Amino acid sequence: AIRVEGLHKSFGKLEVLKGVDFTVRRGEVVCVIGPSGSGKSTLLRCVNLLEEPTAGSVSLSGTELTDPDVDIDRVRRRIGIVFQSFNLFPHLSVLANLTIAQRRVLGRSKDEAERIARANLRRVGVAEKESVYPAQLSGGQQQRVAIARALSMDPELMLFDEPTSALDPELVGDVLAVMRRLADEGMTMMVVTHEMSFAREVADRVVFMDGGVIVEEGPPNRVIGDPQHQRTRTFLRRVL
Ligand code: ATP
Ligand code: MG
Repeated sequence: AIRVEGLHKSFGKLEVLKGVDFTVRRGEVVCVIGPSGSGKSTLLRCVNLLEEPTAGSVSLSGTELTDPDVDIDRVRRRIGIVFQSFNLFPHLSVLANLTIAQRRVLGRSKDEAERIARANLRRVGVAEKESVYPAQLSGGQQQRVAIARALSMDPELMLFDEPTSALDPELVGDVLAVMRRLADEGMTMMVVTHEMSFAREVADRVVFMDGGVIVEEGPPNRVIGDPQHQRTRTFLRRVL
């Protein structure tokens, strides 16, 4: 579904991505791991052009996002993104958080948007919270609402940037369970995470990044279970 080729990204003189190539096929779950500052978030943000690549190309199901003639807003709405911080609108109820973009961006009617919103709130296990405001939810519930909001836009690809790292430990499991279910349902997912057991159990492929390049990638039992590179081994020794 997504293909990244020769991706470079610099901020001024700082070269953060130094030539990254990878693909995520339809229905595949790819986990990206690596030390702080290695460029994981920058890579994810380049995939939906929240950051503009300095060089290289990104394409989604054959649509070249980096082509200046492409309407990036149209492509972006096919990609859901969930960040570490939940980014819900604090002044809107849970239900309104889920319906606003459906109505404004996709032009759905109020009834249809609410029907889809409720189905997605059920899917993430917070159906009973539709009338409350984000501040009345636990972090884990807020993150599940953020996932439900992204799903309500019918994305063909979901990007997650450390979705559980701001959560209290006892709330992490519920969010990972939702993500695991999405993976089982066949969602195409790219997940930056420090949760090695999730990567090991759910990922089809694990990508290890360090210093702005992909050092190695492959099935989890290889990259996490039997890494080939010293840099990967050093990283894993610290996080496992
Ligand atoms: P972490 O695990 O801590 O989230 P990361 O692998 O996600 O790290 P990035 O956030 O992609 O790393 O950052 C990679 C490098 O790019 C860092 O040195 C960071 O300071 C720099 N960087 C990221 N965004 C910007 C920006 N908007 N302007 C300048 N430098 C940036
Ligand atoms: Mg990051």
